[in-house]
Amino acid sequence: MPDAMIRRVMLILALLAVFSGAVLGWDGHDLITYHSLKDFATLDIPLVETEYTYGERDTTEYNPSFVVKFLHEDWDELTAFQVLVDYAQEPDWDLDTGLELNPLQMLTGGSQGWRHQRYTLLGGLIALGVAPERAQHFYDLAVYAYEQGDLYWAFRFLSRSLHYLQDMGQPYHSLPMPVAHFLTKHRLNLTNATIVGENVHYNLEWYVEWRLTQEYEPFIDVLTRTDYVEFATVEQAALDLNNEVRRIVERQYDLTLAVWPDLGIPVKQTLDFERDPVPTGKFLTELHEIIEQTLGRTGEYTRGLIWRFKQDVGL
Ligand SMILES: [Zn+2]
Repeated sequence: MPDAMIRRVMLILALLAVFSGAVLGWDGHDLITYHSLKDFATLDIPLVETEYTYGERDTTEYNPSFVVKFLHEDWDELTAFQVLVDYAQEPDWDLDTGLELNPLQMLTGGSQGWRHQRYTLLGGLIALGVAPERAQHFYDLAVYAYEQGDLYWAFRFLSRSLHYLQDMGQPYHSLPMPVAHFLTKHRLNLTNATIVGENVHYNLEWYVEWRLTQEYEPFIDVLTRTDYVEFATVEQAALDLNNEVRRIVERQYDLTLAVWPDLGIPVKQTLDFERDPVPTGKFLTELHEIIEQTLGRTGEYTRGLIWRFKQDVGL
């Protein structure tokens, strides 16, 4: 590599080192899944909970303290739809934390970040994180469980697969902060850049979740559709979605700060949307357009995954 390129790569690695904290992803995977699938395919397939017996097949590491929880023990009318919705957040329940997966995982916020994000720079020359592989891993397990006649775990694995695929529709999972901000606003100050980057990332995700919880129609409407993306493999689908939102992450970052300028102060902040009115105006309008676009695409890929699964198992 030429010197200039090496310098750029070093700089970028320093930027990525900014994000060593915990990583959330879309909050509200359950809500996204619920609204994306509620008018789609028939998923009222009855299920009965079965024990997890996939230790030999599911060879990738879990956090040793992760415990498989069962949420529907007393249910007699459990359906595939309910399992897909209720476990969509499961990969955030410490399944991926506390692991040594890759020496570069510190650049993505540890093992959780490594498995839930895919940061790309220099047109994809640098890519960090394995979320697309994780989406494929659990998809393959879902197909396997289905072939064993274990419909419960088929849909539970499918729900986990959905989680990683949906994470790829969140722009901040494709880049933590525009390089220009790191250089000019924060002048390479890692501590300040980390705090501001996390402020922007987490508060935007909380904002979207809060709106969904409030049944905010424009966000619900872009999810509640029936069109879907057809794809050959889940891993490729996740890569495509990640590359697509990567193109708008810088704009989303600028707009988040334009709406809530205080997030740019390097002090950890948690916005309270109930208490403080959301500032309206052209920046919020444009930010909403981006959120609606990415949420809409996330919904289309969510339905695409169900379509793919049905094709593959002949359901
Ligand atoms: Zn996640």
